[in-house]
Amino acid sequence: MVSSDCTRCGVCEFMCPRDAIKEAPNQFVIRRHLCNGCGECLPYCPVRAIVPQDEFAARQQRTRKAELKRILGV
Ligand code: SF4
Ligand code: SF4
Repeated sequence: MVSSDCTRCGVCEFMCPRDAIKEAPNQFVIRRHLCNGCGECLPYCPVRAIVPQDEFAARQQRTRKAELKRILGV
């Protein structure tokens, strides 16, 4: 899954052999019906925004906390 850390660089879309990744309004997303879980997209993301499904919730939580700290300046 693609976390909200995605910076919309487009590298993953280019690297996916199944054309499973597409740009959405705010970030790129994986179309799950096309993804076979090969993992080939993972190492190419410059901000490591693509994470396995079981790590997605924790990653989003970390991202939200970091953003909140940035906004609050703490
Ligand atoms: S895991 Fe494989 S098939 Fe799925 S989006 Fe990444 S590169 Fe494409
Ligand atoms: S490679 Fe990473 S940052 Fe770039 S579009 Fe894909 S998920 Fe977003």
